[in-house]
Amino acid sequence: LYEKSGIIYIRLLSIDNLMIKGGYKMKKITVLGATGSIGMQTVDVVMNHPEQFKITAMAAGYNVAKVEEILAMIDVEYICMVKKEDALYLQEKYPDLKVVYGESGLIEIATLPEIEIVLNAIVGFAGLVPTIEAIKAKKDIALANKETLVVAGHIITELVKEYGVKLLPVDSEHSAIFQSLNGEEHNKIKKIILTASGGSFRDKQRDELAGVTVKEALNHPNWSMGAKITIDSATLFNKGLEVMEAKWLFDVDYDQIEVLIHPESIIHSMVEFVDTSIIGQLGNPDMRLPIQYALTYPERDYLIGGESLDLAKIASLTFKKPDFERFRALALAYQAGKSGGSMPCVLNGANEQANELFRNGKIEFLEIENLVEKALNKHQLVKNPTLEQLIEIDAWARNFVLKEIGED
Ligand code: NDP
Repeated sequence: LYEKSGIIYIRLLSIDNLMIKGGYKMKKITVLGATGSIGMQTVDVVMNHPEQFKITAMAAGYNVAKVEEILAMIDVEYICMVKKEDALYLQEKYPDLKVVYGESGLIEIATLPEIEIVLNAIVGFAGLVPTIEAIKAKKDIALANKETLVVAGHIITELVKEYGVKLLPVDSEHSAIFQSLNGEEHNKIKKIILTASGGSFRDKQRDELAGVTVKEALNHPNWSMGAKITIDSATLFNKGLEVMEAKWLFDVDYDQIEVLIHPESIIHSMVEFVDTSIIGQLGNPDMRLPIQYALTYPERDYLIGGESLDLAKIASLTFKKPDFERFRALALAYQAGKSGGSMPCVLNGANEQANELFRNGKIEFLEIENLVEKALNKHQLVKNPTLEQLIEIDAWARNFVLKEIGED
């Protein structure tokens, strides 16, 4: 029995849950990127299941006010900030907490002995090293930070096997595929059908994209997300990153991954099996569901506040093939993914930089894909890059983009 926002909830727990050590099964979680869109929705999920989950540690980037907002809602024991001065400020104000900072701080809270699962919702390349260290410390990973797999899928998948941890997708499409594959044999997969809303400019022709503004690009029709991924959805680099993410998560070839434009974002993705049967996962666009499923897996639980899908009300669902000329970013992502090695890292680093330049009003929308393409053309493929090489290549790609626009 518990109370939230003036409402009394009664939680019915399964016998399994009650049997564990004579009490509730409490999962202790580290949330990286707690102040972001996924991070805050994770806090919401955890607050709705106080008997099951506890956020023991959380990392933010620079948003101290949001950290304090979270601290007013839940009890955490560890906080990590990017900047030392933010950490010192919080440490002084909250002496009972342990506040750390920087990459070493991220690693510290991602590897705490009492933590069972690390939910990584940091945006961008910065999420890679803490994921690697958490796996090495035998933590299960709930992964929203798709850039980790795009850049270093070959390293992560090997580590996951070596350390015997679970890698659970939080991205809604990959969660849908993961759910569709429940109980199925891998060798019976014919293809994965990754659905895409088409982003903010899905109804525009290519020649209409030239002068689009940041404000227009940030206005996603179906999902409310962080700024970087919203721009990635408009360029379709996001779908390209997801194609690479799917390749590593589900161990399939690129020609087994098909992207399908589905503007309603109701079917979150599907799998076709060898007998032509297609299994998909449907639901209203609500990221709390894949977040919660990654945390409760292999069990399901009530999604408090979740709305049932009313298909009769929706009435029709539509689909079309993506136009690779119109969505050049998607073509570049398939190309980089198929080339493999260091190419996805170049695509990711150049895109992160160009995406930020667009958000800061420094370049036009279509320049994002032009700059990424130039970086890919310039780079000499490294076949099986180590983590150290990836860190160098990521920095090279960002610098390349800055130099191209005279900003180095
Ligand atoms: P946001 O921009 O909303 O949040 C990003 C988080 O990362 C913030 O907490 C931010 O901190 C933190 N952060 C940024 N830079 C650093 C850094 N250098 N070190 C540590 N922390 C940092 O992004 P989203 O929540 O939208 O997305 C997060 C990840 O999840 C991305 O990889 C995205 O692709 C993926 N994803 C997101 C979905 C969504 O619906 N939002 C859906 C599927 C995947 P602060 O704000 O304090 O600076």
